[in-house]
Amino acid sequence: MGCDVSSGRYGTALVVSGPSGAGKTTVCRRLLEIEPNLHFSVSCTTRLPRPGEEDGRDYRFLSRAEFEARIAAGAFLEYAEVHGHLYGTLKREAVERVRHGQDVLLDIDVQGARLVRAKVADDPLGACVVFVFLGPPSFGELERRLRHRATDPEDVIQQRLRNAREELEHWRDYDYVVVNDRVERATACLELILAAARYAVARFPASPWDRQTTGESG
Ligand code: 5GP
Repeated sequence: MGCDVSSGRYGTALVVSGPSGAGKTTVCRRLLEIEPNLHFSVSCTTRLPRPGEEDGRDYRFLSRAEFEARIAAGAFLEYAEVHGHLYGTLKREAVERVRHGQDVLLDIDVQGARLVRAKVADDPLGACVVFVFLGPPSFGELERRLRHRATDPEDVIQQRLRNAREELEHWRDYDYVVVNDRVERATACLELILAAARYAVARFPASPWDRQTTGESG
């Protein structure tokens, strides 16, 4: 599926957001495996790498001072404090790529999605951003997943559960809602959403036929 700038269209920014424990990272990884033309927007974070994570591939791991210098330089499309650490999307990872016709996947929290929504509201590129809320099959399942993976003390788990309950209330602010009951099914839903977004009229800055009248064969 051609989506570079020579196709005469902008890219799509697929924003996948939702509470911790909904399975965003797993579903996003799976989608990237089956969508070779989708670029993962590598976020910056001040948290430490987990085992198996690679700097520049999973995140850019920065000190708080380095992160704050980037804030001051205006490098971020959005940033937010999540569970005591800063996370941010670089403009050059997301905005610049979309402008040049690339499709980009953003795995960000609910605050970040809200900031992106506000930022692109009056921008022509805003029509290229698709917001997907990825939710757990139930609150009980979300609790089970958070407890299963976390090595955190009970009060931290309780705080995450309170945050998650609050975040779940924002699903109506999104374009699509996907329930992650099974990774393969949720990934297939995202694939369909991305496929449809690639054909949205807003994606074409000019008539798709203009190029043909200037001698291109299409
Ligand atoms: P984790 O530390 O488990 O990788 O991510 C914690 C949370 O931060 C997840 O909800 C993830 O989606 C979110 N996150 C990752 N990158 C960004 C980002 O660039 N901006 C925002 N706002 N959230 C992010």
